[in-house]
Amino acid sequence: PKTLKIGLIPGDGIGHEVIPAGRKILESLPAEDGLKFEFVHADAGFDHFKQTGVALPQETIDLLKRECQGALFGAVSSPTTKVAGYSSPIVALRKQLKLYANVRPIKSVLPSDKLTDMVIVRENTEDLYVKEEKTYEVDGERVAEAIKRISESATKNIANMAFRIALQRYNSRLADPESTHLKGKSIVTVTHKSNVLSQTDGLFREVVRSEFDRQSSDFHSKVELKEQIVDSMVYKMFRNSSEFDVVVAPNLYGDILSDGAAALVGSLGVVHSANVGDSFVVGEPTHGSAPDIAGQGKANPVATIRSAALMLEFLGYPKPAARIYKAVNEGLLAGVVTPDLGGNYSTTDVVNDIVSRL
Ligand code: NAD
Ligand code: MN
Repeated sequence: PKTLKIGLIPGDGIGHEVIPAGRKILESLPAEDGLKFEFVHADAGFDHFKQTGVALPQETIDLLKRECQGALFGAVSSPTTKVAGYSSPIVALRKQLKLYANVRPIKSVLPSDKLTDMVIVRENTEDLYVKEEKTYEVDGERVAEAIKRISESATKNIANMAFRIALQRYNSRLADPESTHLKGKSIVTVTHKSNVLSQTDGLFREVVRSEFDRQSSDFHSKVELKEQIVDSMVYKMFRNSSEFDVVVAPNLYGDILSDGAAALVGSLGVVHSANVGDSFVVGEPTHGSAPDIAGQGKANPVATIRSAALMLEFLGYPKPAARIYKAVNEGLLAGVVTPDLGGNYSTTDVVNDIVSRL
């Protein structure tokens, strides 16, 4: 069997509960999938910062780059008021490993979910997340400013990631039409606010459009490009999420849209993601460190377990990934769920149930 070396970065709060859950599922894949795993722990987070003064140690980056094929990241806490010397390690990790895309699938499973099968493809390295902010005084009052940076190269990268995913979804739909309500061509919706931000979002829109136009006629027979201004996108997504397929967005809009989209499928605790670059992938639940429930055995492990599966997909192992998604969905439908989904099962109960379904 093939051995994959995977870095595990629990971070803070429920990261310590959901990362072992993801690990357990990977370890429990049947031998017929032909994968073995070696796991290495890596530090990052606010607790680590409080102990050592460093939020993302260089050893973590080196370990991932040098030894690992992929990684699973839990969540980190970030104080809402500025703490000198601290800045979010996940934002830094995405930049240092050139993980330029954050891919966030949201698909309904439970009858109470809104019919949804979309993937939000979020640019992961720039926009307002370059964190170039400053505060100064004018006429005795403080004024704060932030840079919103959009580059052609990062926008090309994210557009092409969205197009690859759209094409792949088209093909897998042909192979298994029952797997989704979506029919016909894949649709990529580019989301922006270029009516107001004509230069930054205007560039994002223009580059996505011109990358689309450059594709082959075969591609154009399978994938269509639409656009939606971000505020009306929010409205339409909540009114009729079933219309959307692949959504491509600059960093901040992608972050907000995907947390919001979690409400369509019951809980932030089930929405997974992967940070993807050309040579590395980090699976990551979309939720944060959930300090309100940390340490109580209540954390929903599904987002992290699905993130592990998505990591496997991007590493080129769709079969074990599909096995994990199927086992997770069966468990959800059987009602073996944590309190955020109205159940009274613990994190461990849910993990054991999914293991038994693999
Ligand atoms: P959060 O996602 O941690 O929690 C929001 C709500 O969802 C809470 O009520 C929480 O209990 C619930 N929730 C989240 N994940 C859950 C799970 N797996 N199972 C059950 N319930 C779950 O967001 P927040 O409360 O705004 O932020 C808490 C901390 O997390 C902050 O310090 C924030 O900076 C950080 N954060 C980190 C990341 C990241 O690491 N990528 C992302 C978002 C927020
Ligand atoms: Mn978020």
